[in-house]
Amino acid sequence: MTDPLQPFYDQIAAMKEKGLYSTIRTVESPQGAWLKVNGKKVLNFCSNNYLGLAGNPRVGKAAIAAVKKYGVGPGAVRTLSGTNVLHLKLEEEMAKFKKCEAALVVQGGFIANIIAIQTIMGKEDIVISDELNHASIIDAVKIAQIGNKFIYKHNNMQDLEMKLKEVQPLAQTPRVDGSKRLVLIVTDGVFSMDGDIAPLPEIVKLAKKYGAITMTDDAHGEGVLGNFGRGIVDHFHLHGQVDIEVGTFSKALGVVGGVIAGKKELIEYYRQKARPFAFSTGLTIPDTAALIEAISMLTKSDALVKKVWANGAYLKKEFKKLGFNTGVSETPITPVMIGDENLAKTFSMKLFDHHVFATPIKFPMVALGKARIRVMPSASHTKKDLDFGIAAFAKVGKELGII
Ligand SMILES: *Cc1c(COP(=O)(O)O)cnc(C)c1O
Repeated sequence: MTDPLQPFYDQIAAMKEKGLYSTIRTVESPQGAWLKVNGKKVLNFCSNNYLGLAGNPRVGKAAIAAVKKYGVGPGAVRTLSGTNVLHLKLEEEMAKFKKCEAALVVQGGFIANIIAIQTIMGKEDIVISDELNHASIIDAVKIAQIGNKFIYKHNNMQDLEMKLKEVQPLAQTPRVDGSKRLVLIVTDGVFSMDGDIAPLPEIVKLAKKYGAITMTDDAHGEGVLGNFGRGIVDHFHLHGQVDIEVGTFSKALGVVGGVIAGKKELIEYYRQKARPFAFSTGLTIPDTAALIEAISMLTKSDALVKKVWANGAYLKKEFKKLGFNTGVSETPITPVMIGDENLAKTFSMKLFDHHVFATPIKFPMVALGKARIRVMPSASHTKKDLDFGIAAFAKVGKELGII
């Protein structure tokens, strides 16, 4: 008898052939500018640890102190006995940090998007989504079973307005129960594969004009954009004008978890109704304590935020000088465009031989033929670290005929 799951195993072979198979490496050291990977010391050019907080001793110490006081696990879902005082403290600090009325802390950024959309949207509602939005937004729309999905061209405000006009007749038709349909415009804040930023002021303006609500997923903006890393809404001075602000704690904040911030009544609704909040246990004690410390550090000094921007600017300048195409990034994210998937993979493997760990980004994360090495600078890189990496890129780039 053949294994009914055989088609999946066959796909693996095909993926390997096309260069679409991901080799997952194992890290044997703390996160930082340098990592130990497969027994080898390598320069870390591929973590989302923008501010170096993932391996920060002060953050670690806060986690240890909290474990001594409260133990490790929260013991139950947040709605039963699993809400620790630290969860509420983190929510309060996060609301202040984002200058929002309230915040709900959840298990991750992916689930935060699902909660944000699924809890308030259903099959009769309308979503208008940027074509390059993160997988978790795409899945959130699917899980919410929204019947009316519209995709606008990436960051293209003319196209967004066209879609908004197109949905007006439907938007004006009441739901079966007589209530008003929601029209949601949703966008990533920073698009992580290219490093460009959503034109949020224009999006907010269009939303107001057409009676839509807005949601931004600021996973790569939090801790990076805005004053003291307060995120994209702060960057554009749009406080209070974006209805749903989603974020993650796994990138610049260096830990894990997600957040939904906004008006106090909306956050209260999520707290009452969100299924992954009510039916899945919340963040652990050490995660939560570490995050409180990370936010407190960010609030006190913007030195780390400034450093990651300076490092990103330096990388872009030097890569361009060498003749690499670094795309359209407006943030520290520095893509080095390659094109072919297998060539990007080879590039990355050769970099690794030169002790530089930079992963290829390829389909399905980006379109086919748009493979790249995405260089992620961090505040923990010194100029010497960056120069080491740049030298390796120069060598491999010449060897492979890219520059
Ligand atoms: C990384 C990322 C997420 C997922 O966040 P996690 O906290 O890792 O689950 C969601 N949205 C965007 C845009 C991201 O870049």
